[in-house]
Amino acid sequence: MAISRRAFLIGGAALAVPIGGLAWLDLKFNPHTSMHYPFPASTGNTLPPTPECLDHDHHETARVTEGPFYKPDTPQRSMLRDAATAGVPLTLRGRVFSTDCRPLAGAVIDVWSCDGNGVYDNEGYRLRGHQYTDATGAFEFETVKPIDYRNFGIHRTPHIHVKMQGRDTRLLTTQLFFPNEPLNEHDWFFRKDLLVNLERPTPGSYLASFAFVLG
Ligand code: FE
Repeated sequence: MAISRRAFLIGGAALAVPIGGLAWLDLKFNPHTSMHYPFPASTGNTLPPTPECLDHDHHETARVTEGPFYKPDTPQRSMLRDAATAGVPLTLRGRVFSTDCRPLAGAVIDVWSCDGNGVYDNEGYRLRGHQYTDATGAFEFETVKPIDYRNFGIHRTPHIHVKMQGRDTRLLTTQLFFPNEPLNEHDWFFRKDLLVNLERPTPGSYLASFAFVLG
């Protein structure tokens, strides 16, 4: 029946679902979970605009869907892997700026990803954690380089999920991607402007860096 069924887009696949199921599907496949971490007492955003930011465009970082695997209330920490975690160690390093290019101190950043086998830890908090940017707007996580995985019939290119927010900014939910991944051009959610700068400081490790802009 035309009135009671609508096409619903999930990762490029159009499904016909009853209207009553749309709210459930949107919640399941496209949630917008808020974060409830307290901001530090002083975020001291007194640094001047930085040339590093002004050299690039300073539009807000693009948003990408949260996906189905976010967990709130993650541990506050920078080390997200342990000795048993599958995958090549990866340092994710970055800075957070306002739209006027000032480093955002005390912004909260929450990250999660699958491991080197394409598996999310949905029971515990492996490869999940949050922290606050320092006085220069910088942060650093120790994680592993995620690989591609399949979920709900969608083959995702490797990515790291991020949620972040400054005291005076909107919540940003997005994903970071990696250069030279064959699946990038086939991934519904991939965006070139969310590619990290990827280095390989040793044969057994990666260093990924990215500058975020929050508005
Ligand atoms: Fe994912």
